[in-house]
Amino acid sequence: MKAVLIILNLAVLMTGCDGASTSALSSDSARSASAVDNLPTSWSSTAVFPLNIQISSDFDNDEITAISDSSEVWSQEQGGGVNYFNEATTNISPKSSLSSYADSVLGVYKVFNWPSELPSGALAVTQIRGIQRSSSIQITHADILVNYDFFDFAAGTSGGPWHYDLQTVLVHEFGHFLGLSHDNSSRSESVMFPSIGSSTVNQTPHDRDIDNLSAKYGFNRSASNSRGIASTVSQEEGVPVTITYEMYPGNKEVIKINGVVHENTNHHCNHAHK
Ligand SMILES: [Zn+2]
Repeated sequence: MKAVLIILNLAVLMTGCDGASTSALSSDSARSASAVDNLPTSWSSTAVFPLNIQISSDFDNDEITAISDSSEVWSQEQGGGVNYFNEATTNISPKSSLSSYADSVLGVYKVFNWPSELPSGALAVTQIRGIQRSSSIQITHADILVNYDFFDFAAGTSGGPWHYDLQTVLVHEFGHFLGLSHDNSSRSESVMFPSIGSSTVNQTPHDRDIDNLSAKYGFNRSASNSRGIASTVSQEEGVPVTITYEMYPGNKEVIKINGVVHENTNHHCNHAHK
């Protein structure tokens, strides 16, 4: 299996393309709130921040630092009064099944036995649970699973080929954790650009990312946000929903809602056909 993945990585590196096209496979996309964020998804209006996340003690110290920095950088770039995450390292362990992650722990898991319910080719997965209402999804739970079963991670490009920058991957996943969807502008404009290769280092949210997050929660950019989070969630009833953001190496991400593909981003970068 690893040999197959390495061949796929090689193909990605050789094309080296930043172009993007997105095809939405569900009619849900017709109800898009905006091109940038077609799934208005957010934590509730109550004082949920900072979210207390637990980092698996299976990660080594450098990895824990990278994960911690990946979450803290969202608050730092927001600039002023918002603390999105508190992190603690605990001995949480990966679950035997994907549904078992719906517990009381908001976790970042180092997974050596990748769940059979998830594609083995996914680098990392953020799984969000929430309540779907007519025009929004309220997040009630989230976890990040990092696929150490089929991939290798390192700091920056220090690991050489076939290693992915853990911090780049986690900054993107924490964006999903906060309710951000993909931004198809470019890698240099957004950490939510749905393409990460083994040589990609993109560790700091950009202006567009912070603007999208500010709009989602009603924060001012770089002003004092001590007034708290604007109430954007209606009181109507909703239905439980599970969103899975699956990041693949190089040029593909798949978003599933209750197991059904909602967005399948696949970059077409063969310029020879233009
Ligand atoms: Zn993603």
